[in-house]
Amino acid sequence: MVCESPHSGFLAKALPALGLLLAAIAWLGLADRAGAEVLRIGRPLCHSVSRSVSRGDAIPSHFVCSGAPENYQKGTLWLQAPLPPATDEGDDLSLIVHSSRFDRLVVTFSYADGAVERQHVRSGDFGTHWRAGGQLAFRAPHRDVAPVGVTMRFDKVASAGLLRMRLVGRGEESTQTTGLATSIGAALVLLLAGAIYNASMAIAVRRQFSAWQAAWATCMILWGGFWSQLHLFFFPGLAGAISAQICTGLSCLAISLATLSAVTALEGGSVSPWLRRTALWLTAGVALLGVPLSLMRSGPIEALGAVLGILVLANLVAVAFCIGQAWRRGSPEARSFAGAWSVPMLVLASTEFIDTDRMFWGGGSQILVLFAAAWQTLWLSIAASRSHARLRIERDTARRAEAQAQELARRDALTGLPNRRGFIEKVGTVLERSQGRGETTALLLIDVDWFKSINDIYGHDAGDIVLIAIARQIALYEGENCPVARLGGEEFAVMVSGLEGFELVRFADRLRQDIGGCRHGEVIGHRKVTVSIGIAEASTAAEFRSLYRLADEALYEAKRLGRDQVAIRLLEDRASTDDPGQILHGSEHR
Ligand code: GH3
Ligand code: MG
Ligand code: MG
Repeated sequence: MVCESPHSGFLAKALPALGLLLAAIAWLGLADRAGAEVLRIGRPLCHSVSRSVSRGDAIPSHFVCSGAPENYQKGTLWLQAPLPPATDEGDDLSLIVHSSRFDRLVVTFSYADGAVERQHVRSGDFGTHWRAGGQLAFRAPHRDVAPVGVTMRFDKVASAGLLRMRLVGRGEESTQTTGLATSIGAALVLLLAGAIYNASMAIAVRRQFSAWQAAWATCMILWGGFWSQLHLFFFPGLAGAISAQICTGLSCLAISLATLSAVTALEGGSVSPWLRRTALWLTAGVALLGVPLSLMRSGPIEALGAVLGILVLANLVAVAFCIGQAWRRGSPEARSFAGAWSVPMLVLASTEFIDTDRMFWGGGSQILVLFAAAWQTLWLSIAASRSHARLRIERDTARRAEAQAQELARRDALTGLPNRRGFIEKVGTVLERSQGRGETTALLLIDVDWFKSINDIYGHDAGDIVLIAIARQIALYEGENCPVARLGGEEFAVMVSGLEGFELVRFADRLRQDIGGCRHGEVIGHRKVTVSIGIAEASTAAEFRSLYRLADEALYEAKRLGRDQVAIRLLEDRASTDDPGQILHGSEHR
């Protein structure tokens, strides 16, 4: 059963806000669908392949417009498409190519008068063509005649199937670039907040799960940075294939870290060991396959990519089963995970079925993945805060209960005064402090006179009420330097420091008179209840036991001499003489 904490409303408020944010981004992303024409091999791109890298930039004369190109990985792949007629506004065209693994890309725009304009980039040098969002932009130079076709030459491209290109108007290109850069920045900032939060949680509360979450969020930030090419601001030499390869490695690592964080957060008993092992094996498979896939520049990249896709899906399904099982078994973590993982899972699954190429200003599924990751890390951060707050509240309640129990163990149940145990603890401190200051200390033992007869005549309950009234009177004297107690039965104690001799006796006698002045008419009629007080005074270091013994002797003396009076003994006197000490009769002070 999950205890509700004062923070419980926050999640309910924060999540719809996050949902709205995602919806707004999706709407903005979808809103520009009309502005781009996606180029795909066969539709309308025709292709031509040279098995080895072509020497010149002369465009081949023969292109094939059906089927998929083959044997291009070590050579040159040519892709060609006619350009749509210029728009009424005369908006010049831009070709946007998503960064991929290739050595060199030459873009040739052909014009109606037979002229051609070439632009090129190569791995390690994207020049001014790179744009945030993992894209390269090639603008058809403006001439009096319209461009009629575009040809792309890719040298040593790793996979033709992974190439993504589209044509947009130049104005649209600027809008898309701005939109894409802004949304990437927003997602990365959200992820950064999640990473910092989880890292500090991992250090502060030493939770393994938070450490995995921080590692995962950091990995996603790196992936987002590399994918979007933001790192080229600082390291332009990493342009192209190297960044694309690092991205593949990071994405596999991110999936593994996310799985580890989910599986380690679900408590041992809430998930079957075999299910947990399956998820871990699958994630190990993803991580392992990520190694060759990120290193390969040629070979069966697409086939391995398909295997990786299946492994990732299987991994997600295994994690979903782990969460589902833990949820059924009542794990509170599972509920948080279900909310956190559902969005990334839906996003990953939806990218398999929905064409996201033209969405999100051309950022496509990667933008979705970035925001889904931000959603996940924020959701889990909020959930972790809630559970942390809940634990703290539970801990504070337990501490308070423990402190109350401790306090109760030091109090007398009938009168509420400290009992012998509580008194001795406080006396120890007072004695130390007084001795440090060189002050006199004194213990007053107060015993009710003829109390047994009150019980005998009026009943035990009436006796209790009398004891409570006396205790209330004694409690008025209680202070930090003046602890009081009910030591047991009808015997009370008061510790005094800083008073000596006549002053001390006067203090004790006033106490005796105050108690004697209490009226208990409701229970014992007009009968007066008096007390005898024995005082032990110590002007040097003393311990409770010897003070108590001496005070008891003084009390005995007060009883012996007729009760309702005060008797005092000095501690130093004991060592040298058997003098019973000065006895003061209560009646003398009335
Ligand atoms: P003395 O003047 O010599 O002190 O006589 P006394 O009757 O007060 O002393 P004694 O020790 O003979 O009797 C103490 C009585 O206190 C006996 C016991 O029943 C009673 N007593 C002890 N604890 C309680 C209590 O919690 N409630 C009540 N009602 N009586 C108690
Ligand atoms: Mg008594
Ligand atoms: Mg007694």
